[in-house]
Amino acid sequence: MLSYHSRKLKIAIVWVAIALAGGATGGWAWQARERDLLERISRRAARMAVAFDGADLHRLSGTRADHDSPAYARLVRRLRQFHVADPNVRAVSLVRYSTAASGGGERVSTLAASRHDGDATTSGAKDLTKRDASVLRETFETGQPGAAQPFSDAQGQWIRGFAPIEPTTSGRDVKSARELLVLEMDARRWQRELLLAGFQGAFFVWTLLGLPLGVWLALRRQHEQRDVIRNLSEAMEQSHSAIMILDLESRIEFANRGLCQQIGFSRREMIGRRWKEFQFAGAADGHVSDLIATVKAGQTWEGEWFNKRKDGTTYPVRGVVTPVRLPGGSISCFVAVFDDVTDTKRREEELREARDLAMAGDRAKGQFLATMSHEVRTPLNGIVGFTSLLLDTPLTPEQREYVQTIRMSTEALIQLTGDILDFSRIESGKLKLDPMACDPRECVEDAFDLLAARAADKHIEILHRVADDVPAAIVIDGGRLRQVLVNLVGNAIKFTERGEVEVSLAVASEPELEHANPTADPAALALNDHAVSVNADVRPAVPDETCCTLVFRVRDTGIGIPPEHHAKLFRPFTQVDESTTRRYGGTGLGLAICRNLVELMGGEIRVESQTGRGSTFAFTVRAPVAAAQAPVRKLAGLRLGLAVGPGALRRELGQLLRSWDARVIEADAPEQLINQEWELALVEVDEVIARALAVQDPLPELPPEKSIGLVPVSLSNELRTALRKHFGLLVNRPVRHAMLFDVLSGAQPQAAVMAPRTLFGFRVLVVEDNAVNRRLISRVLEKLGCVATLVEDGRKALEELRQRAERYDLVLLDLHMPELDGLATLREIRAGNTGARAQTMWIIALTADAREQQRTRGMAEGLNDYLTKPLSVTDLETALRRFRQEWSTRTR
Ligand code: ADP
Repeated sequence: MLSYHSRKLKIAIVWVAIALAGGATGGWAWQARERDLLERISRRAARMAVAFDGADLHRLSGTRADHDSPAYARLVRRLRQFHVADPNVRAVSLVRYSTAASGGGERVSTLAASRHDGDATTSGAKDLTKRDASVLRETFETGQPGAAQPFSDAQGQWIRGFAPIEPTTSGRDVKSARELLVLEMDARRWQRELLLAGFQGAFFVWTLLGLPLGVWLALRRQHEQRDVIRNLSEAMEQSHSAIMILDLESRIEFANRGLCQQIGFSRREMIGRRWKEFQFAGAADGHVSDLIATVKAGQTWEGEWFNKRKDGTTYPVRGVVTPVRLPGGSISCFVAVFDDVTDTKRREEELREARDLAMAGDRAKGQFLATMSHEVRTPLNGIVGFTSLLLDTPLTPEQREYVQTIRMSTEALIQLTGDILDFSRIESGKLKLDPMACDPRECVEDAFDLLAARAADKHIEILHRVADDVPAAIVIDGGRLRQVLVNLVGNAIKFTERGEVEVSLAVASEPELEHANPTADPAALALNDHAVSVNADVRPAVPDETCCTLVFRVRDTGIGIPPEHHAKLFRPFTQVDESTTRRYGGTGLGLAICRNLVELMGGEIRVESQTGRGSTFAFTVRAPVAAAQAPVRKLAGLRLGLAVGPGALRRELGQLLRSWDARVIEADAPEQLINQEWELALVEVDEVIARALAVQDPLPELPPEKSIGLVPVSLSNELRTALRKHFGLLVNRPVRHAMLFDVLSGAQPQAAVMAPRTLFGFRVLVVEDNAVNRRLISRVLEKLGCVATLVEDGRKALEELRQRAERYDLVLLDLHMPELDGLATLREIRAGNTGARAQTMWIIALTADAREQQRTRGMAEGLNDYLTKPLSVTDLETALRRFRQEWSTRTR
């Protein structure tokens, strides 16, 4: 490319040099011709001058008086003879040039002229140009003839020659005066002659040098073109693609070797025949005529068609047909280039089959996972449910331990199936969020509910602190947020032997966000990018100002994580070391799932931890703030005794109660409250204290109607009953803040009591397809003093309600059922298809997986409550309590 340009530049320089040389030669020829012409005129003037006698002229004075003299008449005659002899002569005249002796002034006077113009003699001294005057002076001084440059006037272009008249020997001083002949000739051809001379000079050089260069260049280009054509023909010939040239009638003019090999005909057999004869005239016929029409219209055609081989077989080709245009624009021929695509087609077909297979596999995998989710978890839930019932019966310590182990192992299996399902959804980018308005506080407390028993078993306190400015509701997938919290709090409990686990929740300040440096782990990132990109559309598009970023911190006082392991924690299937797996179990999927969920919710997750000193997992979520009124909670100076041992629980409750404007009297033990002024007392009771209190009488200073016991959720029914003499109410730890407020403000004292199980006496319609679950639910309901009617699918439930709705107070509805599933059944009921009573009946949903998105959807469709399997007595009891509360307000 570069050499091509430098060659062009060199050639241009040579052309410019030749042009300049021609121009210079032309200029030189012009000047030479001009000199020659001037010399010719001056020589002619000199020849004329010889014909005059100086003596004759001396006698003339240059006035009118001379006209009478015979000499004058002779002179004029002679001048006229010269004049008429040549038509190019305009005038011949004789002048006297003199210089005054004093003052140096010069004077030119006409003595005689070949023409008279009125009184004045023409072309005499009177109209000399400046250049004439200077040549005249020179002739006077040197005595040599001369000529001046041409001049123009109204009649045309003229030139003057000057020649001295030889003086006589009369002794006159030729230095002061001299007679001269002035010849004035037509100079019209003068310019043309000069131009001609200049052009001839230039042309000569241009021809001499330019012609060989031009010829050399033309020859070279021809040579190069020949090379290109030879290479192209060679390439066309060697090409594996078939190439042919067709005339305007679609007759083959040229066919390359590739085409001959492809089609099996020799070149001779093809040339001159129509292209159509070699095409498969089947279904593609219309297609081919469209091809010909397109190229004849001057456009390129690209596509596929079928060719016919010599042996009669057909094969698919893919190619381009292009019209070739002459310089004038008309089409001269067509070039077709195409390839046999039999193999490509076969590969495409194979790929399509492979893709279909893969998609079928993917569907099968999805189906398998869904089945696993349901079919595997259902029996597992049955095991957990029945082992829980078993634990409520009298057992030997050994039996109790075995049953507890069975329950724990089964719970771990349920967790594992859930994690695998989630992980596969994330991996395939199918995990979608389902944002709805929800209270972030409730998410934390819901997560605590699920883990409270586990924490209580290990005697670990779980606490939470929520900053006042946290919005009352945000639009987020509450289920997924809860899942992250359950994972982190679950890990915190798992890896902590003593102390506490605390969740704090605050609105993120900007610097906090900048600091959030998620552990950069390429594997986790890659997984995440995929999930995020696929699900980006799920995130609600909300202007920034209505969004808030919340920071959740899950702190524990457990075994901690060495810093060198922090980076890999969020990678799937990674655990700190093998001993962790052996000792604590787990798959290493939890944190990878958390990280993906958090990032889907527009946040980040990071860890701070030191071996032996506990860990803090902090994550942010970004969500639109929902328009919800934050409840105003004020206890207006209520004096509260807080008998809780020094530590995190006392801090949490003290802070909370003060934020409600209560006056708090803190004490390490209830005895310290004696003699103090308080209206209600909150007393921390653990299992050891409960056992001690069970055998003690209540102190008169601590009347039970003013005392509320804060008990571990796992406290047995026997102990709860025994505590009744000491406390009017028992509130489970971890304490739900809203519920505690209701208890203290007297709004819902009953709702908070977690005292011995209530016998509700409700009549419940249970809709559940799984027999084990049906039995489990009926047992649990029995324990709670309810009467259950069991049906195994949605249709039967509708039938039952249609006929006997008045027999039931509420419905427990499994969402996952064959045929008519839970949501469809719900829709039928709410649409009034089973009568007016059923239409407004309280319906509690049951599902195998808390993370399924049906919850929010179900609530929107008219569910009243929601329970997750495995169903525990406590969960159902709480749900029934919620129903009773609602029922009493409805019937009030
Ligand atoms: P799993 O707990 O199922 O093994 P995770 O992804 O939740 O999987 O956790 C991965 C590993 O991170 C755990 O095995 C453990 O080694 C470590 N880890 C997580 N949370 C904590 C914690 N709070 N304290 C100490 N180690 C932790």
